Order: sequence, then C-alpha cells, then structure tokens
Amino acid sequence: MARKMLKDGEVAVADGGGGGESYDYDLFVIGAGSGGVRGSRTSASFGAKVAICELPFHPISSDWQGGHGGTCVIRGCVPKKILVYGASFSGEFEDSKNFGWEINGDINFNWKKLLENKTQEIVRLNGVYQRILANSGVTMIEGAGSLVDARTVEVTQPDGSKQRHTAKHILIATGSRAQRVNIPGKELAITSDEALSLEELPKRAVILGGGYIAVEFASIWRGMGAQVDLFYRKELPLRGFDDEMRTVVASNLQGRGIRLHPGTTLTELSKTADGIKVVTDKGDELIADVVLFATGRTPNSNRLNLEAVGVEVDQIGAIKVDEYSRTSVPSIWAVGDVTNRINLTPVALMEATCFSKTVFGGQPIKPDYRDVPCAVFSIPPLSVVGLSEQQALEEAKSDVLVFTSTFNPMKNSISKRQEKTMMKLVVDSETDRVLGAAMCGPDAAEIIQGIAVALKCGATKATFDSTVGIHPSAAEEFVTMRTLTRRVSAASKPKTSL
Ligand SMILES: Cc1cc2nc3c(=O)[nH]c(=O)nc-3n(C[C@H](O)[C@H](O)[C@H](O)COP(=O)(O)OP(=O)(O)OC[C@H]3O[C@@H](n4cnc5c(N)ncnc54)[C@H](O)[C@@H]3O)c2cc1C
Repeated sequence: MARKMLKDGEVAVADGGGGGESYDYDLFVIGAGSGGVRGSRTSASFGAKVAICELPFHPISSDWQGGHGGTCVIRGCVPKKILVYGASFSGEFEDSKNFGWEINGDINFNWKKLLENKTQEIVRLNGVYQRILANSGVTMIEGAGSLVDARTVEVTQPDGSKQRHTAKHILIATGSRAQRVNIPGKELAITSDEALSLEELPKRAVILGGGYIAVEFASIWRGMGAQVDLFYRKELPLRGFDDEMRTVVASNLQGRGIRLHPGTTLTELSKTADGIKVVTDKGDELIADVVLFATGRTPNSNRLNLEAVGVEVDQIGAIKVDEYSRTSVPSIWAVGDVTNRINLTPVALMEATCFSKTVFGGQPIKPDYRDVPCAVFSIPPLSVVGLSEQQALEEAKSDVLVFTSTFNPMKNSISKRQEKTMMKLVVDSETDRVLGAAMCGPDAAEIIQGIAVALKCGATKATFDSTVGIHPSAAEEFVTMRTLTRRVSAASKPKTSL
C-alpha cells in the first residue's frame, strides 16, 4: 500500500524514515477512547496492521483503570446525558399539571435504579467498542502502554508482566483526567468520575467550577431534588461562551433553584458529624453531603515516558502536535484530549480520522476547527456554533450585527413556567455571513446541529431570512429574526473578563 502523504503541497514520506525495516504492526495505538478507537478502525480499514492497548474496565478512572470506549462512554458524555434525562422528568411533571395531568399520590425518584441502568448501559457500550475493534481486525492488548523509543511501546499488563511491541507509527490517544484543587481537605471532594457513580443521591451538593461539567451536574442534582450551591471565580459561569448567553444560563439555573455564588472559591473542607463543612474565601460556611470539584482536566501524559523519547509537551502536559497531529518525533502522533485542542468527543474523532487518512489512506488532511458546534446539557441546555459576539469583535474587520430573540416558548404559556428561550445570530456587516449562532432553551443541541451545517456552507443572514420556518416550533425563530438588536463597531473592545 502506498504510504505517502502530501504536506503543504509537497509529497513527503509519512513513515518518518523507518520505511525499510519490519515491525510487529503498522500502527500501535495507546488508549481505546473516542480518538484511539476511531484511529485504529479507520487505519485498519485502509489495510494497516493495527494493535491497541487499553486499561481494564472500571467506571472510575486511574493510572491502572479505564476501559474500551474511554471517557465519553464510561464516565463522560453518555452517562452524563443519561442522568440529564433522568433529572429532566421533575420539570416535566411540574409542567404537565396545566396540560391536564393529575398526578395522584407521591412521585418518588429511585436513584439506585437509574444508576444501575446507567451502569448496565456503559458496560454494554464497553462491549460494543471491543466488538467493533475485533471486527475491524485490530489486535487488543489489555494494559498500560508507555513509550520505549520512537517505534516501541511497552505494555504493562494487569498481572505486572510487560510486553514490547514495535510499530511503524504510534498513536497516543490517552485522553485526560479530572484534576483537584489543592486546598485543605481536598480528599473529601469527588470528581465527575465519582459523581456519575455515587451510591447515594446527595441532598446537599456543593460544586466548585464554572465550566460545562459543573453546570451540568448542578442541573442534574437539582433536577433530582437536591439543594445545589455552585461556586465559581468569574462573574458568570461558562467562561469562553458568549457573555449574553452566559447571563441567560445563569438566570435559568437560578430559576430552577440552583444557588449561584459568583466570584467565590472554596478554601477548606473538613469532615463533621453532619456532613462536609465547606469554607469559602468570603468566610461563609455550609454543610454538604457531596462536594464536587469540576475544576478542569489534565492531559494523561505523565506516565508515557514522553520526555525520554523526545515527545514535547506544553506546560500542562499536553502533547504538542502539528496541524496533522504529528508530535515532535516523526513516527509518533497524538489525538484527542491528550493534545488539549478542543476537548470534545467529535473533535477527537475528527482528529483521528484525519490522522488515518493522512498516514494510511493517502489523503492528507488537517482537522478543521472552524465552526465546531457544542452543547452544555444544563436544564434547559445551551448550544453554540461559530463565534460568540466577543470573538467576532476580536476578529472583526467590519462592524458586527447582532440579532437576538428572547421569547416564552409555547409550552410555557400553558405550563406557566417562567423561563425564557434565547436565540442569537452574530453577522458580519460587510459580507452578511453568519459568524455564530447560539441558543439557550429546550432542544438547543438538536437545533444548533442543523444550523452548524448552514454555517459550514457559509450561509448569509439573507439565506437564513429566505429559509421557510417550521411552524409551530422554537427553531423557526432562527429564520425570522428580522429586526437588528444592535450594531457593534469593529473598533469597540469586547468584554473579556466576566
Ligand atoms: C463528565 C464529562 C462529560 C463530558 N461530556 C461531553 C459531551 O457532552 N460532549 C462531548 O463532545 N464531550 C464531552 N466530554 C469530553 C469527552 O469525553 C472527551 O473529549 C473525549 O472522551 C476525548 O477522547 P480521547 O480519545 O481523547 O480520550 P478518552 O476518551 O479519555 O480515552 C482515553 C483512553 O486512554 C486510556 N488510557 C490512558 N492512559 C493509558 C495508558 N497508559 N495505556 C493504555 N490506555 C490508556 C484511558 O483509559 C481511556 O480509555 C465530557 C467529559 C467529561 C469528563
């Protein structure tokens, strides 16, 4: 098979100079999460001889435990979304009353039942991923992989025995792990891994962090009836998202009964007879059953022997790669969270597909990070694609036109729920191109996925305006926003420190 790739218009040999020697495999992959599984399967489909190593299955990750499917399947997107579904019913029960439903008697929530069903589902998916790999002809090896040299991986198996495997190319896809803040009593806190597998549902939950994982767990626990206190350093949660949309999310979280503590962090945790005592930097104290640190994630790179082999990492341990996901060692590549580019499952999949096409498919291609859509599965959810108003202003050469629509969804007019849906389009005044779209409200992720296709196609505001709506729906607002909310001068400075 031809193993050549085009690099910036020039043909360059993709094997990093080891073309003539023989190896156990064409490709050895470390880590069978989103990126590793995709990279192995697609490379095998191009005819490469592929092996992959992965840690033994466990819902909570560690240096010695993981499982096929990785974070997304076992302790990320999938179990989280299952819990979001579970938590959403409480609001639905409330909303159903004005639609004529009479619920006589108690409605009880059985956490253990949901947890059991969640665990069954991730075990099932773990098996599905193993079958997918086996059916693709990929050799699966259980254990922790680390580098010996530019073309050799050593796998330490669960019984402590070690095996060495050589490969023409090595792909590192070891993901990331939750990090804890260093405060007294930090061992009393949990991370998202444990939060997805708690024995008991907390009655009083404290969450530290303003990112999407923090916001999602706040919605999950609140939806299940817990008292939730959310602490974060900034004025608003979800740093990096559009400021106006962040305000809407914050107000919706409060509307659902979550207590927000902006500009506040935790300084100490200690055990008491009644629960965990939490002390804040403002001197306040409260008692919680569970304290969740959702304070960021660190690339899983420290046990891979990268330095000895010459693979460069940045200051937080993320593997440095070029636009094709190649590391500083030509035969070693890296994709997904371990490279800390955009840490989302579909992005890891895109990077891995591009890697396989480039190295084994004879179709060199770089991942395209423009217009990557994403969602925060708060209740209700936020979803965005393209640029926020602030990012548009940072990049803008011409004025930015902002169209917004804030409305009471039809369902709320009967249920009487006080919760607005908001939609937003950010448009380049010169080209009329829609630079960004955002929505906070029911089904936002389902709607924005379609809008993302339009943005990829370079849709203009005129195209949106000429599109016929689906009536009655919330989505039709995106094609009926005729009135300009504001025109923001390219010279104005975006707000960046909320
Ligand atoms: C709570 C939570 C919710 C999330 N929700 C979403 C969401 O809604 N949407 C979304 O797109 N993304 C979400 N993500 C992010 C998403 O899960 C990750 O971006 C994605 O899983 C990254 O894929 P990856 O292949 O880089 O790493 P992973 O999926 O983490 O896979 C890495 C694999 O490598 C294994 N491994 C590590 N070290 C070794 C070693 N030395 N040897 C062998 N194997 C090793 C690990 O066990 C793991 O299986 C969420 C993450 C979390 C934590």
